Amino acid sequence: MEIKDNLSRISATLPAGVTLAAVSKTHPAEMIQEAYDAGQRIFAENKVQEMTAKSKVLPQDIEWHFIGHVQRNKIHLMAPYVSVIQGVGSFEALAEIDRQAARFNRHITCYLQLHIAQEETKFGFTPDECRAMLEKGEWRQLKNITIGGVMGMATNTDNEQQVSGEFSYLKKCFDEFKERYFNDSEDFRTISAGMSGDYELAVRAGSNMVRIGSSIFGARDYSNQH
Ligand SMILES: *Cc1c(COP(=O)(O)O)cnc(C)c1O
Repeated sequence: MEIKDNLSRISATLPAGVTLAAVSKTHPAEMIQEAYDAGQRIFAENKVQEMTAKSKVLPQDIEWHFIGHVQRNKIHLMAPYVSVIQGVGSFEALAEIDRQAARFNRHITCYLQLHIAQEETKFGFTPDECRAMLEKGEWRQLKNITIGGVMGMATNTDNEQQVSGEFSYLKKCFDEFKERYFNDSEDFRTISAGMSGDYELAVRAGSNMVRIGSSIFGARDYSNQH
């Protein structure tokens, strides 16, 4: 009941056109089923094996988004079913996703993760690296992936001005890439930014996909993980 209430409370704050990805990492399949029964269809996880195990026991029309660090040797595990791999941070990763998608006769949407935070630990392209990759154009040969947008994480800080500035920068990069490289594509349309603590700032800065976990499912318990 609580999950359902949380979902409707959050959905009510999202403007039309903003998609909610429910971040279910660490939570059991039963809780995901509860959100599913309340109408949620997009779920996001950051561990390939965990997501794969859940995908096998949950309804087949769930759209699974991978939001973790993409390790090349694990892509084949999710290639048969994943809808979107957010957080692609190199051309090599894109090429490997394409190769694995082709093996399974599938098409996988990828978002380019841009490093917008001041923290060292966040993965992704710098905007310059991303621009260089797009300019080079090899990605146009990859027929089993679609570049569907950008993804970013702001610095974990109470400084709202800084967080808003980082989200606005992500939006600015999106607009630039859209105009320069994807003007002819309807697929490049997603700006994935904003988590439980900062999604309202992200949406105000132009994000149209938020990734929310703890505000839906409650705090995560990592104590049984190694
Ligand atoms: C865990 C996670 C989220 C959700 O975080 P909450 O604070 O629980 O909403 C969003 N994005 C990524 C990449 C995550 O790893």
